[in-house]
Amino acid sequence: MSSLEGLRTVAESLAWARAEIGAVDARVLLCHVTGWNAAALIARGDRPLSGPLAVRYEALVARRHQGEPVAYLIGEREFYDRLFRVTPAVLIPRPETELLVELALQQRGGFRQPRILDLGTGSGILAITLALEWPESNVCAVDYSRDALWVAMANAARLGASVSFIESDWFGALSADRFDLIVANPPYVALDDLHLQSGDVRFEPPGALASGQDGLDAISQIVAAAPPYLEEGGWLLIEHGYDQAAAVRSRLVDAGFVGVESWQDLAGIERVSGGRRMHHEPLA
Ligand code: GLN
Repeated sequence: MSSLEGLRTVAESLAWARAEIGAVDARVLLCHVTGWNAAALIARGDRPLSGPLAVRYEALVARRHQGEPVAYLIGEREFYDRLFRVTPAVLIPRPETELLVELALQQRGGFRQPRILDLGTGSGILAITLALEWPESNVCAVDYSRDALWVAMANAARLGASVSFIESDWFGALSADRFDLIVANPPYVALDDLHLQSGDVRFEPPGALASGQDGLDAISQIVAAAPPYLEEGGWLLIEHGYDQAAAVRSRLVDAGFVGVESWQDLAGIERVSGGRRMHHEPLA
């Protein structure tokens, strides 16, 4: 890494950072530090970057170089066209999770004032997006991490979403509530998955990523526990790993769900599975 002898221009700073961390991250971090947009960085390329800004920029570039995710460095990530605050207490929103939003919103015709539950809300992206996109809904979000709930509550306040937040390990702290729609993006990576040992995920909360030897612990628990919390005809929709769709469907069927199905994300990977709760009267 370099020193600060002689101030670099904006363009020189960018060129230096590009070689360290790549063009996209170099630009995003410099926009963050300066408060300028990408066009302004170009237009102001031959201005010197002031000392304090250069120091902050070099520090962020060094942290990115060590692998820290850009979203944590700048404290935000976009999801479904809105900016959400993120900290290392929460999983960084991923584009494939927008599928879960789309599928939930497809139910808009079927329920008038649905009660929606988001299990393991993290930064709150699912609960908040659904509350804003489906204003007639009544959304409740739970997480077992109090630090995550602070982030989610701050996001709801910033974005003007009305969501009730509850500290709860899955359904643990919920009373005898029933919902029309339960959504979850639980941890689903296998504990020994090498994917957890490289790249940005190393900085994310392990409890939001990994779940048992096959990654299916949390999903199995949620599917088995969900039926009493669903209204008749209510949906459970769960995000899962690229190779888990069949396993999740079979758990849903075992738990008595009907209309069990999986849906593909934009990459063509079966990413969400779900089903509806149908109440069968016990035979007399
Ligand atoms: N899709 C994420 C990953 O592979 C995992 C997210 C999750 O466990 N919910 O990094």
